[in-house]
Amino acid sequence: MPRGPLNIAMIGGGIGGLTAALALRQAGFEVDVYEQAPELTQIGGGINMGPNAARVLRRLGLGPGLEREGVRPIGSHQRRWDDGRTLQLASLNPRCEELYGAPHVTIHRADLLAVIASGFPAERIHLGHRLVGLLDRGDGTEAWFDNGVHITADVLVGADGIHSPVRAALFGEEEPRFAGCVAYRGLVPVERIADLEPELGSQSWVGPGAHFVHYFVSRGSLLNFVGWTEHDAWNREDWTDRATPGRALAAFEGWHPQIRRIIAAADTCFIWALFDRDPLPRWSVGRATLLGDACHPMYPFMGQGAAQAIEDGAALAACLARSVGPGGEGDPAEALRRYEQLRLPRVTRLQEMSRANKTRFHMPDGPAQEARDAEWSRAGDRSPDALRWLYEHDPAAA
Ligand SMILES: Cc1cc2nc3c(=O)[nH]c(=O)nc-3n(C[C@H](O)[C@H](O)[C@H](O)COP(=O)(O)OP(=O)(O)OC[C@H]3O[C@@H](n4cnc5c(N)ncnc54)[C@H](O)[C@@H]3O)c2cc1C
Repeated sequence: MPRGPLNIAMIGGGIGGLTAALALRQAGFEVDVYEQAPELTQIGGGINMGPNAARVLRRLGLGPGLEREGVRPIGSHQRRWDDGRTLQLASLNPRCEELYGAPHVTIHRADLLAVIASGFPAERIHLGHRLVGLLDRGDGTEAWFDNGVHITADVLVGADGIHSPVRAALFGEEEPRFAGCVAYRGLVPVERIADLEPELGSQSWVGPGAHFVHYFVSRGSLLNFVGWTEHDAWNREDWTDRATPGRALAAFEGWHPQIRRIIAAADTCFIWALFDRDPLPRWSVGRATLLGDACHPMYPFMGQGAAQAIEDGAALAACLARSVGPGGEGDPAEALRRYEQLRLPRVTRLQEMSRANKTRFHMPDGPAQEARDAEWSRAGDRSPDALRWLYEHDPAAA
């Protein structure tokens, strides 16, 4: 017998959790978001977002916000670390729109989160709620928060990031591994580097044991940079750890003058360590499942972590709407199994490709690097045309 819309508890109000909450609400479900932070924030600079994710956000009605806050890079430019020689050049916009019906966008994380949140009722985002326990009851899930609140939900989704307590509760505790890489991140007001005349695109400089990426965010007023270097050991993971631009400059000693000018123009720098987990064979237990970094964290070397979390939300909403319906008549556990079966092969492939890119981007000069450069000059493997399998995918239709 129909029993009314399912109520869904989304644990985590990051990019993945909020997108999924919005997609599920638009599919007719009752959704509440529980976020541990006292306010919705995203620290850490920019996101490079492919048309596969931009298309999902547009369908959710977020196109105007994306258009307003984001930047459309004209191309992606791979360059050599010391002399700046072009290794690969691919046009992004308007090519992506022509091929895939959506642009490639670069955007500040905080702006992206605000755009997504603008589509979802603020009163259903419960801030200051840190999940501390959950129990699968078979016909639903109970959850407890550190502020004493206790809830029951028909379906619970852990969109709570790489350290996911929901993942730990469903599949056991397992610490993520340090991936041997740290990132120096910063934002530079464009007027400080105007004399460099940086092209309106995404540039990636590759060299021995490191690579450096920069692109525009915040309506084009800031240049976001992230410089990755290899390290043997690390014991912290926090976007808010500061480093001086001097330390970042030392890490990129001998690199092209443009890179050193950009770093030197920053007032401050953040340092962030990369952590990793192996792919999970499954994400769901009964009526609880996972989404985004909680189940498939990936190195950011395909620029697809947030994009895949966004795709997850669309796929989850489509699976639940199809198998259960807003009237609540079908089996939610079956819909969750279908969701993970659809998503697992794609995100596992991207996790593997992102890992392989760490090696490819950080090759020391020598025969392997020469072979890579020759391949890049021929194949254009990061051009929108070559990434059709990635960019044309429609998670809701699949
Ligand atoms: C340097 C760097 C560059 C990147 N660049 C790109 C890029 O260019 N393109 C791209 O697509 N991706 C990129 N990524 C990846 C992307 O940032 C992540 O994949 C994405 O943010 C994951 O979103 P999420 O919602 O799954 O998790 P998160 O953004 O981590 O959100 C999890 C949320 O859950 C909350 N939470 C945690 N525990 C609890 C709890 N117990 N109770 C309640 N709430 C809780 C957290 O406060 C947080 O708000 C990059 C990542 C890094 C590190």
